[in-house]
This record gives sequence, structure tokens and C-alpha cells, in this order.
Amino acid sequence: MLPIHEQFYTFQGEGVHAGRAAYFIRTFGCPVHCPWCDSAGTWHPDYIPEKIQKYSSEQLKNTVAETAAEFVVITGGEPTIHNLRPLCDALHSIDRPVHLETSGAFPIKGDVDWITLSPKRWKQPLAENVQAASEFKIIVDHLDAIEEYNSMLQELGANLATPIWLHPEWSQHRDQALLDHITEWIKTKGAPYRAGWQMHKNYAADLRDPRSAPAVPLGGKPEQGF
Ligand code: SF4
Repeated sequence: MLPIHEQFYTFQGEGVHAGRAAYFIRTFGCPVHCPWCDSAGTWHPDYIPEKIQKYSSEQLKNTVAETAAEFVVITGGEPTIHNLRPLCDALHSIDRPVHLETSGAFPIKGDVDWITLSPKRWKQPLAENVQAASEFKIIVDHLDAIEEYNSMLQELGANLATPIWLHPEWSQHRDQALLDHITEWIKTKGAPYRAGWQMHKNYAADLRDPRSAPAVPLGGKPEQGF
């Protein structure tokens, strides 16, 4: 059984697979504690609900099977604090690839088909995860963040051909200086850097599924969607 904060059927709003139909399973719990986390409902003491729903791999698989999702995204929170192997095996039994969104700070337990690794300075990723990543997502929360995470990934042996998405931290997504910095970085360096965006937030796509939980961002303005 896995503690699940929310699950919903939507499209992937970020990264290489953006725009594709995807079923999201958001697990409970995260020890990383980023100060601007946009999923604080999974871990912050002010938001933890009295009752946390648990689901078996079989239950989750059966729900996914009713959709046309091209793949399943297991996200969090930090999903790798849980043993994901039974869920991965169940999803593979219905031919749904498993995509993982992780900080990379903990060993991955389970066979996943795609790893989106978003490194966080508050708990560094493991080298084995950095080297296995399919894409990176750097959250640009200040002007030195790209340089900082770039050095971290290189020291940990990242494959230099792996796409590195540069996302404005969402509470600053209208900060023109930050956006200009990302633009200039990409224009100067070229590959593997790419400008990133959280398209699903503009569409409010996740919220169309009533099983999704209201966003609980830290450091943002929830009434404005960030
Ligand atoms: S942003 Fe991700 S890694 Fe950071 S606290 Fe939130 S869920 Fe954890």
C-alpha cells in the first residue's frame, strides 16, 4: 500500500514528454523541504490532512487501465522514499510506461522507464541517480542557480547530452530579470539547455480531475495560481 496525496488524469505539462496524456500519482511525504515547494500538501506540517489515503498497486493499476494515458507519472512529495517496485510492476503488466519525478536524493526502488531529476540544494542527488537520469529540471530560484546546479550535476557525473530544462521557480515566473537570465543562458550555451515552463498551470489542467488536490505552494500566491 502506498500513501497517496492525490491522483489525476491530465497531460504532462513539462519536459520532453509535455503535452502527452498522462496519469499522475502523487505520493505522500518529502524530507527535502524546499522553501518554495509547490506540493507542500504532501509534507508540510501545516497542511498534512488528518487522514492519508492508502492504495494498493492493484487499485492504482485498475484506475489507470480505465484511461487512455500514454504513461504514468509517479511524483510527490519525494516518491523514492517508498518502495515503488510493486506499483511499477503492476503498471507494466498493463503496458503503461512509468515516469518518475524525483529530487534524486534517495535510491530508486522499482523499474522505471523515464527519470526526471530535479536537483535540490537542500539534499543533493545521488550520483547513481544523476547518471541514470533521462532529463534534468533545474528550478531557477535566483540568478546564480543555473551555475550552482550545473556544477553539481557535472561533479556527480551527469551525461552531458541529457536535456537540462531551466524552469523559473513558479512564484517568480513573471520576474523578467530571471526570465531574461534563462533566455541568455540558453542562447549562449545551446544544448543541452532548454527553456522550461509548467504548461499545466496555465491550462489548470490537473484541476479538471476532481481527484486532484488544491495546490498548496509555499512562497507563492495561491489565489493567483502560484
Ligand atoms: S519541491 Fe519536491 S523535493 Fe522540494 S520539498 Fe517539494 S516535493 Fe520535496
